[in-house]
Amino acid sequence: MQLPGPAYREYDFILAGGGMAGLSFAYYVGQSSLSNKRILIIDRGVRHEQTFCYWSDEPSEFDALAEKSWDSLYFHSARPSSLKIDIEHYSYRKINGNAWFSHIETELSKHPNIHYLQAEIESISYQGLGSCVSTSEGSFYASEKIIDSFSPFPCDNAKPQHLKQHFLGWVVECNFNNFETDAAHLFDFRVAFGKECEFMYVLPTSPRKALFEYTFFSGTLREPDYYRDKIKSYLFAYYGLTEDDYLLKEEESGVIPMRNNPNKPANLYEKHLKIGTSGGFVKSTTGYSFYRTQKFCKDLVAMLEKGPSASLVIPVNPWKIWLDEVFLQVLIDQKIAGSKVFESLFYKNKPGLLLKFLQEETSWKEDLRLMWSVPTFPFVRAALKTIYRSKIK
Ligand SMILES: Cc1cc2nc3c(=O)[nH]c(=O)nc-3n(C[C@H](O)[C@H](O)[C@H](O)COP(=O)(O)OP(=O)(O)OC[C@H]3O[C@@H](n4cnc5c(N)ncnc54)[C@H](O)[C@@H]3O)c2cc1C
Repeated sequence: MQLPGPAYREYDFILAGGGMAGLSFAYYVGQSSLSNKRILIIDRGVRHEQTFCYWSDEPSEFDALAEKSWDSLYFHSARPSSLKIDIEHYSYRKINGNAWFSHIETELSKHPNIHYLQAEIESISYQGLGSCVSTSEGSFYASEKIIDSFSPFPCDNAKPQHLKQHFLGWVVECNFNNFETDAAHLFDFRVAFGKECEFMYVLPTSPRKALFEYTFFSGTLREPDYYRDKIKSYLFAYYGLTEDDYLLKEEESGVIPMRNNPNKPANLYEKHLKIGTSGGFVKSTTGYSFYRTQKFCKDLVAMLEKGPSASLVIPVNPWKIWLDEVFLQVLIDQKIAGSKVFESLFYKNKPGLLLKFLQEETSWKEDLRLMWSVPTFPFVRAALKTIYRSKIK
C-alpha cells in the first residue's frame, strides 16, 4: 500500500480491515466533507486474486475500470436448454480486483491524512469516550468511529445448514480464438446432476481469454481439486480444450456467506460500525456484494456527514429479509434441485425484473409477481418453516 504509515496513536476514524469494503469507505470519505478527518487503515496486507462483477442500469462509480461489460447473459438449464437473455437497460460488468485496488490506492494517496498500518488486528475495546484497536504493532485509538470490516460474519463453514457460495475459478488463455464474447454465462446448470445448487459461471473477456468458475450455493465445501477437476472437464466437454491447449493465468477462490445477518446493524450513535461482509452487506441469495457495498458505504458517509443519529448502517427491510430467508431455505431443504429454482425464475420472468429483484429494488407488487413463478410446494414448505422458526425464537 502506497499510503504513509501511522503518525499518531489517536485518529478520528480507524478502519479495522482494508479490503474492498474498508477501502470503499475510505474512498467515499475522501470525497466528502469528512475528507480532513484523520484516518488510519489497518490490515494484515495479504491480498488474493479477485474479480468484482456487478450489474447496473445506470452509470456507476467504477464503470471506467471494467475490463469487459455484457448486455446479454446466457442461462443454461440442467434439461439442457439454453436461453440467451438481453438484459434490457442493464449491463453486467467485470472489474479486475488488482485494477480496482490500485485505482483506490492512487485516490487515497491524494489525502495526506489517510494513513495505513500493516498489522494483525487482535481486538477492539472501549476506552473512555473513544475506542481502541489492539494490533501486533501496538494500540491505536479512535475518537469518533471504528469501521470494522475484519470481524468474521456469523457463518460456519463446517455447518451444512449455513449456506455458502463456494467456488474456485480459473482465468485461462488460448493462443487461438475460442470464446464468444458477446454474452457472459451467468448460470450453466448443464453440470448439475443432483439436488445441490452447482453451476459453472463463465466470463469470456476476449476471444482467447475467459474466467471459468465452478460454483456451489450449498452448505458443504469441497477440496480445491474437486473444483479444478470440474473446470478441466468442462473445458474439454464444451470447448474441446485439453490442458495443452490453454495457459492457466490466474486462480481465485472464495467462500461467501449466504445468510441474512442475525445481528441488527448498529446505529450511528455507536462507536463500532461493521461494514462489508462483516456488516451483512452481502446479498444473501446471490453472494454479490461489490455494488451494494459501494451504495451502502456512500450512504453511510453521507449519514456520518450529518452527525450522530439513530439511522442504521444499512437499511433493514423485514419483507425483503423474509423473502431471502424463504429462498435460502428452499436451497437448504433441497426438496427441489437448485437448478430448477433458477430455471423457473429465468424462464418465466423478464430479465430486467429479475435483476431488479436481485438488487432489492423491486416493489412488493413486483416481488409477488416473481413469487408466482417459482415452484409452489417447496416454497410454501420453506415459507412455513421460516414462520415456525420465527415463532419459537
Ligand atoms: C475470489 C472472490 C471473488 C468475488 N467476486 C465477487 C464479484 O464478482 N462480485 C461481488 O459483488 N462480490 C464478489 N465477491 C464477494 C465480495 O465482493 C468480496 O468478498 C469482498 O472482498 C468483500 O469485501 P470485505 O471488505 O467485506 O472483505 P475483504 O475484502 O475480505 O476485507 C477484509 C479485510 O480484513 C483483513 N483482515 C481480516 N482479519 C484481519 C486481522 N485479524 N488483522 C488484520 N486484517 C485482517 C483482510 O486482510 C481483508 O483485507 C468475491 C469474493 C471473492 C473471495
